[in-house]
Amino acid sequence: MLNRKRTKIVATISDKNCESDFIKDLYEAGMDVVRINSAHLEIEGALRIIRNVRKISDKIAILIDTKGPEIRTTDCDEPVNIEPGTVIRIAGDPGKKTTSEIVHVNLRSIADYVPVGSRVMIDDGENVFRVIGRDRDMLVCRAETRGVIGSRKSVNVPGVKIDLPSLTDKDRIFIQMAAANDVEFIAHSFVRRKQDALDVQAEIDKYKSDIKIIAKIENQEGVENITDILDEVYGIMVARGDLAIEIPYEKIPSLQKMIISRCIYCRKPVIVATQMLHSMITNPRPTRAEVSDIASAVYSQTDALMLSGETAAGKYPVEAVRTMTKVALEVERNKEKFLETPYINVTGEVSSYLAKVAVETSLRIGARGIIADTSRGRTIRDMASYRGFNLILAQCYTTRAMRELALSYGVYTSYQERRDSIDQFIHIALSNLISDYDLRGDDKVVVLAGNFSGGSGFSFIEVGTVEYLNNRIGFLQNMI
Ligand code: PEP
Repeated sequence: MLNRKRTKIVATISDKNCESDFIKDLYEAGMDVVRINSAHLEIEGALRIIRNVRKISDKIAILIDTKGPEIRTTDCDEPVNIEPGTVIRIAGDPGKKTTSEIVHVNLRSIADYVPVGSRVMIDDGENVFRVIGRDRDMLVCRAETRGVIGSRKSVNVPGVKIDLPSLTDKDRIFIQMAAANDVEFIAHSFVRRKQDALDVQAEIDKYKSDIKIIAKIENQEGVENITDILDEVYGIMVARGDLAIEIPYEKIPSLQKMIISRCIYCRKPVIVATQMLHSMITNPRPTRAEVSDIASAVYSQTDALMLSGETAAGKYPVEAVRTMTKVALEVERNKEKFLETPYINVTGEVSSYLAKVAVETSLRIGARGIIADTSRGRTIRDMASYRGFNLILAQCYTTRAMRELALSYGVYTSYQERRDSIDQFIHIALSNLISDYDLRGDDKVVVLAGNFSGGSGFSFIEVGTVEYLNNRIGFLQNMI
């Protein structure tokens, strides 16, 4: 067993704190993917983060969160204090600032959608208002809670369907920039149905880009349409911040479990997001409840956990990543060592069968890892769906595949050029891995490969000790 966590960590980074040294510290603490939240920065800031991430490692993936059909407050010069009973107006005008009298939002026609009697929640549900009337094209609202409204805070109207287009102009600009900079993932907010995903894909296709879509599921409609959405996207984010406002919060734990299971079955990465270590924005230690929340997601065998404000604006960002790593490692030790995921034919019948056999075999013989080759990562993700205890040491023929796999459960990657023979492949793989993973001669490994006859998928499996595999190809030692 190699002492690395299987569950991946996505950490949000702000352009206000994105120096390379900081990113390096987060990477060393266990961060696998950097999230850039387009709600809180402009293109220049995002580019600065991308440049600095790429300086640190070619294994860190970048995920850009586009805001989609989301309503937000406009900027305000100073935060607006709200007391229970305070009456404010909500008006749709993205060009005007929010003041203590009028909260402006980016959706012009908001008043047409929201009936009197509805609840309006601002800033992840921190501020609750009841709509008590209308004043021309504004909603008149009475506060039910005490709180503060700041710039660009989320606005939710639970139970009211608002027919916003899938993408905003800002989303399109960010997708263009992401394509030009070879970013790995677009996490699109408020994916409600398959068409939203198709619209994002069409935008990506304009640039002939390989960017993969992560659908953020954050309202009832998205939950209802999860099966159709999954068909069109690379992965899913359980975006609990908005989800727990749009849907009663007591339903979130079982929804989270359901979505994780669906994704594992479909061989698609899944991320659990929001408030996993919220208290660490200001405190150096997590609460017991936060530790249990991380543990519960790890027991459900999510691919990844996400940090938002904890790393973007918190006082203890590196400690937060370290905490997640520590909890994940400990819980993984105690979880089931193999998940009986139903077999599906993902990459060809033989290849998919070998993927399952490799994971089972590695457990049975007490191997230290599974070495497998890949050009696009599909076969590796298939193998990851069994949630085996042994790490999958993917040998990638492209650096892009390497970074995309940063989001996949139990997968660690190295780059190697495509070889002519399995012997050469094994030799390079071992030289990539022996020192990094401290492999010894009598350690057993399972090798799973294919691609040498020009086809795709796995076609070859070999089991042996590192020493045996090295000797078997000893005649090649001087060649390379
Ligand atoms: C969420 O709602 O949980 C989320 C991740 O999205 P955002 O950060 O855009 O609120």
